[in-house]
Amino acid sequence: MIKKQREKSHKLLTHEAGMRRVPKSHPKYPILEQEHGKLSYGHKGEEALDYFLTFLPNDNYLILNSLRLEDPKRRYFQMDSLLLAPTHCIILDSKYMSGKLEFDESANQLLRHLPGSDDIEKLGDPISQISRQRHQLSLWLEKNGFPPIPIVSLIVLTHNNAALTKTTPSITKKVTFHTNLPNRLKEIDQNIFRGNFMLSTKDLHKLSRTLIKKHTPDQFLLLNHYNISANELITGVICTVCLSAPMIRKRGVWGCQMCSAYSKTAHLEAITDYKLLIGETINNRELRSYLNLPSASVTSKYLVSMGLNFEGSFKNRRYFL
Ligand SMILES: [Zn+2]
Repeated sequence: MIKKQREKSHKLLTHEAGMRRVPKSHPKYPILEQEHGKLSYGHKGEEALDYFLTFLPNDNYLILNSLRLEDPKRRYFQMDSLLLAPTHCIILDSKYMSGKLEFDESANQLLRHLPGSDDIEKLGDPISQISRQRHQLSLWLEKNGFPPIPIVSLIVLTHNNAALTKTTPSITKKVTFHTNLPNRLKEIDQNIFRGNFMLSTKDLHKLSRTLIKKHTPDQFLLLNHYNISANELITGVICTVCLSAPMIRKRGVWGCQMCSAYSKTAHLEAITDYKLLIGETINNRELRSYLNLPSASVTSKYLVSMGLNFEGSFKNRRYFL
């Protein structure tokens, strides 16, 4: 039963907005584009888990996706999927990487053998990462008053073109392919924790609720990070069909000059980009300039139509996006 849906990280969402709003000619655009590629690739891998999680061995499991928690030492840790059962829980960590992969246990490195050469690419240390996650989750459980439930963690290779080379029994215990995930979960279910109940059904649901309550989404300040100034961004409403900007407003409808598409609500996406990149509040003057609107009264209509909360008196009023 899915208790928490998968969501895109704030870091990915801000990069998506950045790809729309940072001009292609900007010197930081290539590095932004590269990072965006990595993040959306990672998200795609996490989503690849979801299909195989519909084949769970039993209905006892509660599934919590994209969970980010703070451990008692104020360090954040993130889990792609967490499965809760009365007897144990399982952390799944997706790795969306293609090619011939090798887990080098002596050097604690994930390696990729590049085709047609002896070259090897280092891809970090996911084994240490999952053991850290397990440790942090156990600290979190203790701090929040839950019993020491056994925690299993698994690296799931989610790319269809991933192959493993030089595996050992200890690697096979920690790593699996997404296509084999249902079998691995069944094995864990049947062989390891059979019958040893740590949580009642009531406590299991309480744990799930507490985890969701303590989930802290990440925050990413894209303009600060890349040292891009807000006035360098592309303003106006972007056409959702052909992606050109700005759309021109005529009698309350946004029209595209390039492809003649029109929309009544295209400004909402522009405002979402504003919120992700520039700030969570806006005043009439800022919105008017950002959307290229003709007057303060037209701008005011848009602000009212969105039903936003605000603070401040008429002239200094700031709206919460
Ligand atoms: Zn268009």
